[in-house]
Amino acid sequence: MYIDVSDIRKTRGQTFHFDLTQEMQPLDVGNCEITFKKPLSISLNIRSAGKELIFTGNIKGDTQLVCNRCLEQYGFCFNTDFEEEFCHASDLDEFREEGRNTDDIHVFEGNRINLEDIIRESVLLSIPMKTVCDENCRGLCPVCGKNLNKDNCGCEITTVDPRLADLKKYFER
Ligand SMILES: [Zn+2]
Ligand SMILES: [Zn+2]
Repeated sequence: MYIDVSDIRKTRGQTFHFDLTQEMQPLDVGNCEITFKKPLSISLNIRSAGKELIFTGNIKGDTQLVCNRCLEQYGFCFNTDFEEEFCHASDLDEFREEGRNTDDIHVFEGNRINLEDIIRESVLLSIPMKTVCDENCRGLCPVCGKNLNKDNCGCEITTVDPRLADLKKYFER
């Protein structure tokens, strides 16, 4: 999604507000696929602080994730704030001359800014590293693979602490 910032660049100090929606394709993150139940809703404020443009806002999402333990899909909503700075490529040298740190500044050319990276980054930061449908999710049976949240399969599950395994062998002799 592109935002035309030509007017904003000319108007220092004034805040421009945008209410946006963004349709999202599924995102693949490692072993989990994020699907979106509805478009993201984005509230965005852009202010020119002279050379740099300050983007602040909020993204709300309604997603469907896959549980790491039981592999079932479950719903996950997030609501996240962001703040980013953009600088036109032609102003970058001046920025550096002023001794400003430009590491975290996004550089753009022309008069349009692509929001795709900000949006994607905010979404990825909002999704938990380990997706679990419920803290008490019992996962899959390691013997028969049944979802233990739905059914008690009755398999005998013996877990032996690897540190004790040698001891166990000793007694079995
Ligand atoms: Zn689960
Ligand atoms: Zn089982």
